[in-house]
Amino acid sequence: MKIKDLNVWLSFSIFNLFGYLEQMKMTYSVTVEPGEETIPVNTVYCLGMNYADHAREMGADVPTEPVVFIKPATSIINGESPILLPTFSNDIHHEIELVVLVDNVPENISVVDAETYILAYGVGLDLTARDIQSIAKKKGLPWTTAKGFDGSAPVSRFLAAKNNLIKPTTMLRLTINGQVKQQDTIGKMLLPVPVIIAHLSKYFTLRRGDLIFTGTPEGVGPLQPGDIVTVELVDIISFTTRVQKS
Ligand code: MG
Repeated sequence: MKIKDLNVWLSFSIFNLFGYLEQMKMTYSVTVEPGEETIPVNTVYCLGMNYADHAREMGADVPTEPVVFIKPATSIINGESPILLPTFSNDIHHEIELVVLVDNVPENISVVDAETYILAYGVGLDLTARDIQSIAKKKGLPWTTAKGFDGSAPVSRFLAAKNNLIKPTTMLRLTINGQVKQQDTIGKMLLPVPVIIAHLSKYFTLRRGDLIFTGTPEGVGPLQPGDIVTVELVDIISFTTRVQKS
């Protein structure tokens, strides 16, 4: 190999290395406790209107079929990072949700067997550009930009699933500047977690590292720059973050 060729090869390889590192930086891994195992996030599945009171506050009928949508993995950020309000929306809403980390799930799993494939639980925000979503709904168009923008899914660290960690009485609570805005038990979900997993497995190959956002209770509303937001799975896991202009 000539010196010139070597130089070209080296500069190309270094360029590739930086590209690779950049890509690694953009792949969010959740930390599962205890043990601090890190698992890269794949697909982020979300349930819409999984609490009757929230469906009503959105002026919608309680759905007879599960409402499912997807956020890209790049929507996930560490919950402790600031929430940067995107410039393309004037109405970013908070939606607190129980978040489930799953293992590789066989297709068409039964509800009874679904629980086996839950790796861990966390809490997160399904941030929603409500102004953009409302326009999309009126036109019958998808919600992808309203729901899937970069940073639209802040999450806590995760706790490995074990018996009785999560119960129907487990409470979700979101406060803004100390004021409670959303608070309800996960027992109010229309579809409990194993039913959600069984349903998704009819359509999708769920893989280790997929997250499922399980829907939000009533009380959603806008975030303002300067807000201090605390997101809790009460007595289990929580995070606090600050809202900023981007
Ligand atoms: Mg939601």
